[in-house]
Amino acid sequence: MARLTADLADYEEFSPADKAVYDMHVSAMERGTSKAGNAMLTLSWKLDNHEQFGGREIRFDTVVLSGVQSDKSKNPGAPIVPFRLMDLIQACKLPWMCGACEEESSRPWLVGTGSEGDKANGLPKGKLHCPDCQAGLKLSFDDDHVPGARCKGAVDIEEGKNGKNFNKIVKYLPAD
Ligand SMILES: [Zn+2]
Repeated sequence: MARLTADLADYEEFSPADKAVYDMHVSAMERGTSKAGNAMLTLSWKLDNHEQFGGREIRFDTVVLSGVQSDKSKNPGAPIVPFRLMDLIQACKLPWMCGACEEESSRPWLVGTGSEGDKANGLPKGKLHCPDCQAGLKLSFDDDHVPGARCKGAVDIEEGKNGKNFNKIVKYLPAD
């Protein structure tokens, strides 16, 4: 038998940050591959400008970059739409390049509103377009821009498999 000793006098039960919207920035980034084999980033975010939770780190936030849909999905093998990456680019105003005109900018892309009505922009409804050449959106993006990126995050609390609560970033929001 082995006797183990541990000094837990300074131990404090971890409690997650409150469910709220926080200023935050990317404090670490790791490139990897998801279980489904898709390229992804694993981000750590640090909460900023908050009296109680400023400096708190939220880790293991994953952003899929590209790949194909799994065999269990509706369209196996079809390219995935990287929604979270798109939200990240727009919320943090990261530079991206249009595949058609090769213009690099961090401007928001255009959403087509059709050709009916006063505010219609004449582009196919619900489709995304380059703000420069108006071509259908085909973007390329360099993940070197991600470390240090800033935006706001809608942070929630979830229960982990171990029964302990942890923070999860449910949505990236623009900083202003
Ligand atoms: Zn373009």
